[in-house]
Amino acid sequence: MAILESAATGPSSDAEVIAGLGQLFAAQSQAFRADRSPTLAERRARLESLMHMMLSNRARIAEALRADFGAHPAPMSDLIEVLGVLGRARYALEHLEAWMAPSPREADPAMFGTAQAYVRCQPKGVIGNIVPWNFPFDLSVGPLIEMLAAGNRVIMKPSEYTPACGGLLEEMVTAAFDPSLVAVSLGGAELARAFAAVSWNHLLYTGSPNVGRLVMQAAARNLTPVTLELGGKCPALLTPGSVTPRNVDSVIGTKIIKNGQMCITVDYCLVPRGDVQRFIDLAVSFMSKAAPGYSRGDECTGIISIRHLERLEGLLAEAAARGCRIVPLEADGVTDRATRRMPMSLVIDPAADLGLMREEIFGPILPLVPYDDLDEALAMINAGERPLGLYVFGDDAAVTDAVLSRTISGGAAVNTCALQGALPSLGFGGSGNSGMGRHHGIEGFREFSNPRGVVVRGTGDMIDIFYSPYARTAAVIQAILPSG
Ligand code: NAD
Repeated sequence: MAILESAATGPSSDAEVIAGLGQLFAAQSQAFRADRSPTLAERRARLESLMHMMLSNRARIAEALRADFGAHPAPMSDLIEVLGVLGRARYALEHLEAWMAPSPREADPAMFGTAQAYVRCQPKGVIGNIVPWNFPFDLSVGPLIEMLAAGNRVIMKPSEYTPACGGLLEEMVTAAFDPSLVAVSLGGAELARAFAAVSWNHLLYTGSPNVGRLVMQAAARNLTPVTLELGGKCPALLTPGSVTPRNVDSVIGTKIIKNGQMCITVDYCLVPRGDVQRFIDLAVSFMSKAAPGYSRGDECTGIISIRHLERLEGLLAEAAARGCRIVPLEADGVTDRATRRMPMSLVIDPAADLGLMREEIFGPILPLVPYDDLDEALAMINAGERPLGLYVFGDDAAVTDAVLSRTISGGAAVNTCALQGALPSLGFGGSGNSGMGRHHGIEGFREFSNPRGVVVRGTGDMIDIFYSPYARTAAVIQAILPSG
């Protein structure tokens, strides 16, 4: 009751918000202790409630995204933040029974007789989810699917940069679920720090690698297992002969999604030196056909805040000051400070020490880095941190396979970009600096489960040899050791 009251009156001070989180966590922990094994039918019902929640709020979700981003294409809101989440929930519903089924394991009958062994996934308990601003629903309600499928209880903390989306999420979740099952905690930096310090049974964090380190340190104090979904610089490597209209459309089309503010967008592009001008021409041609007047039109998402916009402008200004060629992909493109829509630019052959080659760009700037041979391109990729996504283009499977086997990234796509994040059947996550652990599909179900190994003793076994007197054990070992 105290929880419901505090939610209704809208606590304001950091101390009250953090106390409210403590109450929610205590209530969910207590509810979990009372019911540690929700049935298949109960989990299905929860997933169906989640789907209904998303379907019945489509228009409001699009409006909240527009409010937080300044400008946000409504069909894109629908496609990724609503329909993508619904497809993922439907996939989990279809496979949940198989995911929950015990997985039999071998037990050598000579030693273990008729014993049965299996792994049965059980819920971890109460899970926290720290959500970033760029996909406020896909990265809150998306992982919630596998968390609920695995039988857990969940508290989500939206980003302070998306107050409209966070407020709507709280309202939607409060209407759809009992707070002892799913809840939302809203607040600023103090809450974020306190959230990571809660003794969750599992904690998911999505955001920058720097904050990921702080989150993991806080979780370590409680031995809380973490999934870290981080960022980094995702390269697209166009192998010789692959600078075609279809492939350049794929790179630029992906970059337009959220105006580059997507963790698996193309951060920079490696292009055969002789094909750089062809890439530029194809990119300009794609933009003029697909998104004429991009920065003034409905296709363009606003940059999340003026601070983020100024950071991007600074990256471009530094490149210009260092004499880089900057190619606007739109004639007369302008930055509209009211909606924070920023035009798309290519930066040709930037030096490796420029900010835009050291930091994740996360906006509408695409460096084109020329290379002379494939080994050089692979060396550039491997000199950086392990990316979240890696994209390779080319018709020769031997070449694209070699690129995949000579690099490491969280996910990858061949002849397309970012699609590895759109398939509900593919586990999604990073490696090294781009994160650890997976959500989406069966990998997500397992991530948020305790894979308990169980043995049921039968008859006709030799298990007594584990017990003293060990003289008898030594004789048995001697008898079963290979002779000679
Ligand atoms: P952000 O500023 O919204 O921060 C992310 C979350 O961390 C927020 O909820 C914030 O309140 C919280 N936070 C901030 N400081 C904290 C602290 N000390 N302790 C605990 N929580 C804290 O988002 P951001 O970091 O700017 O997000 C952009 C980054 O996220 C990019 O690097 C991007 O690549 C990455 N990202 C990764 C994925 C993925 O799936 N791997 C998805 C989206 C974004």
